[in-house]
Amino acid sequence: MYSQDTGLFHNHQEFTKQDSLRGSITPERAWWDLTYYHLDVNVDPGKKNISGKNTIGYTVLKPNQTLQVDLQPPLKIEKVTQNGKELSFSSEANAHFVQLKKQQKIGSYDEIVVHYSGHPKEAIRAPWDGGFSWKKDENGNPFVATSCQGLGASVWWPNKDHMYDEVDSMKISVTVPKDLMDVSNGRLVGIDTHKNSKTFHWKVNNPINNYGVNVNIGDYVHFDGKYEGDKGTLDLDYYVLRDNLEKAKKQFKQVPKMLKAFEHWFGPYPFYEDGFKLVEVPYLGMEHQSSVTYGNQYKNGYLGRDLSGTGWGLKFDFIIIHESGHEWFANNITNKDIADMWIHESFTAYSESLYLDYHFGKKAASEYVIGTRKNIQNDIPIIGVYDVNHEGSGDMYYKGANMLHTLRQLVEDDEKWRSILRGMNEEFYHQTVTSQQIETYLSEQTGKDLIAFFNQYLRTTQIPVLEYKLKNGTVKFQYSNIVADFDMPLQVVVNDEKKWIFPSSEWKEISVKENIQTFKVDEDFYVETKVLK
Ligand SMILES: [Zn+2]
Repeated sequence: MYSQDTGLFHNHQEFTKQDSLRGSITPERAWWDLTYYHLDVNVDPGKKNISGKNTIGYTVLKPNQTLQVDLQPPLKIEKVTQNGKELSFSSEANAHFVQLKKQQKIGSYDEIVVHYSGHPKEAIRAPWDGGFSWKKDENGNPFVATSCQGLGASVWWPNKDHMYDEVDSMKISVTVPKDLMDVSNGRLVGIDTHKNSKTFHWKVNNPINNYGVNVNIGDYVHFDGKYEGDKGTLDLDYYVLRDNLEKAKKQFKQVPKMLKAFEHWFGPYPFYEDGFKLVEVPYLGMEHQSSVTYGNQYKNGYLGRDLSGTGWGLKFDFIIIHESGHEWFANNITNKDIADMWIHESFTAYSESLYLDYHFGKKAASEYVIGTRKNIQNDIPIIGVYDVNHEGSGDMYYKGANMLHTLRQLVEDDEKWRSILRGMNEEFYHQTVTSQQIETYLSEQTGKDLIAFFNQYLRTTQIPVLEYKLKNGTVKFQYSNIVADFDMPLQVVVNDEKKWIFPSSEWKEISVKENIQTFKVDEDFYVETKVLK
């Protein structure tokens, strides 16, 4: 997703027990590996009510008989069963501890079924303050969708609500009033027709993060396409409101262009088995895996605006490009802890400029990403607090993108840079990862020690300042506002000549033959400069 409102990324100073139960790998989570879900839910738009059950399949990693399931009030667990027998459970706010009757054998697979119902939290400002959006289309039909990043999928269905453990595959069955359709993740594998309702069965054949799971209900019409891509034929399916069919057919022509650019830069689309869908929703949009949701009013830019102020942001539909970029960074490579959400948002914000790079050239890409610097706040660090479900600064978008753009300059070899990005999507294919893993990978692949580089940009709000003095034929320079050992090289232009300089916390100097007429740091590097007399 994308947020321009950094107020949504609160910097909590105090965390509660509830934050730890939600945000850490508790002993009641650690002993079992999440293997399968079958979410089977009835949605009643008239009453704003849901009811149903989730079958949770798990594989035992170590002995334990207490299993944590998360579900947020006001939704209520009605009962939990295993092999048809009811199990007891105790609750602490959103965390529910189910007592299993039998001993759990290491390596064995079992299932519990969690029955639940109620009025789920209504989204206040989807997708940021998520939950259920109960809207109507222009013809008065219900138009309903879920969104829950950050808040957690347990806001609308019971699950293991922590990013570290993704389910291997999933079935989603959604029952809706008979004139409506549900679109969820993966492929439509069946429709059951009842007297007044219909059940849509969707199957996801790949690991999926909880917040990616969604239901979208409306008076949808469908059209489709095929994309001949890196792994063969990819099915493209589009679901939009009946009245928007013609607009959608035109605007969604950007999908194959998006796939072309991103398969070039990042490698094959990560979910060929599940296909790719764009689904219209009554909010801006979200990176729901294999059913990317769309509400950008069929306009280019971000609701018609260019976030970079350079004009390049109007060359593409922000939601189609950004939310689809997340298929590689968020859905394929997923953060284990939301504190490391930069892995999702920095790479995806950066993907916007790589889309431009592919279709409009390197200069367009540079101008765009540099233009987005005006959105950087430097309020709190990009990396949040671990184990308490805490996101870092909203700077994970454009400061992160500019950090990666800077790293590209340091690599100084675009083919190598591309192979590193593609390699990342192979190395961490369908995995949940930590920031440390990504940082180590990038250090190894670039052959550069990037420890101080990442510490500077991800863990502080300080932007390096190159201080310099010009005198006759010499430039003296040093860094200020840096962390220990930060010594990133910079490209500078002296009298129209490009040069690398190697600043550190100590004064250094270079000499040029003639008098210095002009001196500037290449703008592609995200640093500040200060000239001293
Ligand atoms: Zn995003």
